[in-house]
Amino acid sequence: METILSLKKLDKKYGQVHAVNNLSFDIQKGNVYGILGPNGSGKSTTLGIILNVVNRTSGEFSWFNGKLSTHEALKKVGAIIERPNFYPYMTATQNLNLICKIKGISTDKINEKLTTVNLFERRDSKFKTFSLGMKQRLAIASALLNDPEILILDEPTNGLDPQGIHEIREIIKEIAANGTTILLASHLLDEVEKVCSHVVVIRNGVKLYSGRVNEMTASKGLFELKVDENEEKLIELLKQHSAIDKINKEHETFIATLNTEISSTEINEYLFKNGLVLSHLVKRKPSLEQQFLDLTSNN
Ligand code: ADP
Ligand code: MG
Repeated sequence: METILSLKKLDKKYGQVHAVNNLSFDIQKGNVYGILGPNGSGKSTTLGIILNVVNRTSGEFSWFNGKLSTHEALKKVGAIIERPNFYPYMTATQNLNLICKIKGISTDKINEKLTTVNLFERRDSKFKTFSLGMKQRLAIASALLNDPEILILDEPTNGLDPQGIHEIREIIKEIAANGTTILLASHLLDEVEKVCSHVVVIRNGVKLYSGRVNEMTASKGLFELKVDENEEKLIELLKQHSAIDKINKEHETFIATLNTEISSTEINEYLFKNGLVLSHLVKRKPSLEQQFLDLTSNN
């Protein structure tokens, strides 16, 4: 696996505010990473540091295994960390042409990138006629003009309507499917779940979890159980089972959290043999949302 970016014990203090606290993680080529955390958790600061627009207090980061200087490495990075400024009276194509001139890169890719973000048909429309979603898509096209190895986006769907949000997410997935590594910051769990393969959860600048989105198993899952009668006996039997961690009741349903992976069949058999017949039994993994809340709520 090829490491695109490596953060080691990165730290940033703004006076008393510890915005980024001893943060370490690696970005491997080809994956889609989400930095997930509530507002104020240090996502934008982290992106600012790796893009050389915010000075770190301590720690290290290195691009492409440190083979290039940060300045050289950033030529292979496409990033949108604030609302980009385009000229309102210029068309999409004219704006991108200007960006190519300023950055000293070829204009060859303009049409291709406009197509990627579904703006090719609107290439000759003035920027000021664009919806917020279209403006954001043009920003993505501009960040792709140099065919970056990695695309970095800070809260890419903020402020957009549901349709606009959907379009941006589809475009990000498409760009990733074509082999571009992606790092996005979001406070939306749902967004990370839908778009990303990997996640770094942070709160108050501290990393709480990093790994695959679909392996973010803080627990071994849970059972939903119901009985028509004899609830006391159900609780008693569940308490006695070694795989059951804790038992909660939500309305008529009991939620038994597991500390060991066991099947529905096993628990059903165990209860039946002890004289209890269930009226409802479902095994589920806790949703990422629940895990995120668990990770971010306690201490
Ligand atoms: P996020 O992007 O996750 O919402 P930020 O990185 O913007 O979080 O902010 C992290 C913390 O650092 C917050 O407490 C924020 O108020 C503080 N912060 C960010 N930028 C500055 C700054 N330029 N000066 C002082 N404090 C800042
Ligand atoms: Mg932010």
